[in-house]
Parts: sequence; structure tokens; C-alpha cells
Amino acid sequence: MSRFFNAAYKDLIPYTPGEQPKEGEYIKLNTNESPFAPPEDVTEAAKNARTLNLYSDPLCADLISKIAEIYDVENDCVIVNNGSDESLLFAFEAFGGESGAAFADLTYGFYTVFADFTHTPYVEIPLKDDFTIDPDDYTGLGKTIFIANPNAPTGLVLPLSEIEKIVKSNPDNIVVVDEAYVDFGGESAIPLTKKYDNVLVTRTFSKSRSMAGARLGFAIGNRELIRDLNTIRFSTNPYNVDSMTLAAGLAMLNHEDITKKNCREIAETREYTKKRLEEMGFSVTDSRTNFVFAVHPELEGEEFYKELKERKILVRHFGNERICQYNRITVGTREQMDRFLEVTKEILLEKQK
Ligand SMILES: *Cc1c(COP(=O)(O)O)cnc(C)c1O
Repeated sequence: MSRFFNAAYKDLIPYTPGEQPKEGEYIKLNTNESPFAPPEDVTEAAKNARTLNLYSDPLCADLISKIAEIYDVENDCVIVNNGSDESLLFAFEAFGGESGAAFADLTYGFYTVFADFTHTPYVEIPLKDDFTIDPDDYTGLGKTIFIANPNAPTGLVLPLSEIEKIVKSNPDNIVVVDEAYVDFGGESAIPLTKKYDNVLVTRTFSKSRSMAGARLGFAIGNRELIRDLNTIRFSTNPYNVDSMTLAAGLAMLNHEDITKKNCREIAETREYTKKRLEEMGFSVTDSRTNFVFAVHPELEGEEFYKELKERKILVRHFGNERICQYNRITVGTREQMDRFLEVTKEILLEKQK
């Protein structure tokens, strides 16, 4: 830290992104990206985007119209951002602050970072022993609530009826539902945004829509909430989504059939991987996402991570005490998962020698 660094940030512990090694070096099952490249015309659209000497459209009008059409909401109930991480940051800036935030103790790691960064005090509500959320813990909290649904890294889903109860019991606070993984098997809270003025749903193109590298996310909520987020957006970076990404995003939304097919394939491969892991003695949560969360009674979590890495397979291991025996393994292609399962079997056999 230099002696010039703003004292307000001196204790900030930044988020640690998953490793991004050079292409081809590893089988990458550590950051929940899609194993499928976007269709060629999506990349073409980015290439042919508005001339780069001009600024991108600060209103993101075309992309917003298309999103509004797909999700059956009004245009002014949608905001487009530089990844859903930015939507979440804007939500912390707009709806955080003194009254504070609340989220699970085991959830997306960025929430604590954004809370600290925006000087939002927070409570971490422990998940139950089986990693499920107890909705009763969230009734009448008096804080801005962040719920990843399905949750990461557990993969578990909270039924929409429970989300609605939480929303209803906190009428004077915002409930942000982070639906990064909902396309792989959850039920979206987007319909609730028409019924309640205190629900904000954040979505991303990074996981189900094969565009992690383009950095594109959107949020849907009551128009007043979206206006607040735009106040933050236009006070920081009105051109937060570049022309190439806007064009690629729009092209990707013309391929909803491909997105659905990819999600189905990932869900099938996930169930296959889960079954094979269970046959080898792992316990695997009932994930509705594009990753599995697994623990083995005779294999230390960190050791498994390291053994896989030595064999050129990357998964995500977390140091947190409650889950340090687990690993989060992104569901890749069937071939990638077969290789992962074969290597896992080898590691287990070696241990038993
Ligand atoms: C991946 C992820 C995000 C971030 O998505 P980006 O659009 O890539 O910024 C947000 N929330 C959760 C729970 C995620 O897993």
C-alpha cells in the first residue's frame, strides 16, 4: 500500500478470482464458465460492432428491448451492466449503507467484499448443517438481503414460494435474488418483480449464455429500483458495456434454443457426474447449477484439489472451515468430466495403496 492510498480502503480484502491459466494448459473446472463457445455469428456481431471510435450506446436500448421481450417485462424495468458483478456492486451502492445487508455465511464470495467496499455493515446468516437456507432466519430483518438462488458453492435451490415469503416479510427492504445459475434448474423470481416493489433479480451472460469473457449482466426489478441503479451507473460509468459486448449479447439472445439445449446438456452431465462420484464414495449436494459440490470421507479437500491440479485439472477449493473438505467442480463437456472422473479414480486408488 502506498502512503497515498485512501484510508477508507486500507482494510479492504479484495475478491480472489479463480485461476485463469493459459488456454489448453488445464482442463478448467474451476470458475463455472460454459464449456461451449457461443455460436459463430455472436463473435461475428462483436467484430462488426459499431465503429470503435464512437462511444457505445449508454442506454443499451436494443439489448434492453430484447431482454424485456424475452422476460416479459417493461423496458424500463431492465438495466444492463458489465457483468452481474457490477449489478451487485450497484445494488450495494444504491441499497446498502447504514441499515446494512444480510446474506448467508456460505454464498458468493463477492458479497462481503462489496459490503466492505461500500461501507455497508453486514450479518452473515449461517446455513443449516445440510447447507439449506432457513427462510425463517430472513423474516423481517430490516436489512438489504442478498440471496444467490441457486446458491454457490452449494448448488442448492430455495423454492420460489420461500423467496416470496422473504420478500413479503421485508416490505421496507430490498431482496436481491442473484440468479447466476437459475437457467440450469431453478425457478426465476422475475415474475415477483411485477408484484412487489422490493425485489431485484440479477442475471448474467457468463454461465448459461457462454459469454463470461464479454462481461455482460442484467438486472430486472421495479422501474424505481432500476432508476436508482441507473443513478449509480450514470454517476460512475455510463458506457459500462462496450459496443462489442452489446452486439454480441443481442446476437446471443437470438439463440435461446441453443442456450436451452446447452443448459439441458450441462444438467444431464451434472447428474451423470454426481452419480459416478457417489459410486466412488463421495457425498454430492443436490446441485441445480453447472457445478457439483463434493466431499469424500477419505480424501482431504485441499489434497484432492492439489492432486487434480498436478494432473492438469483445475477445480475450486475454498479455505472456509465449514467447507474446506469440499471441492466445487464445474460441469464441463462429457469428455472433460470423464477425464476428471478417471483421474479422480486414480487418486483414490493411489491413496488406498
Ligand atoms: C458468476 C457469478 C456472478 C458473476 O457473474 P458475472 O456476470 O460474470 O459478473 C454473480 N453471482 C454469482 C452467484 C456467480 O456465481
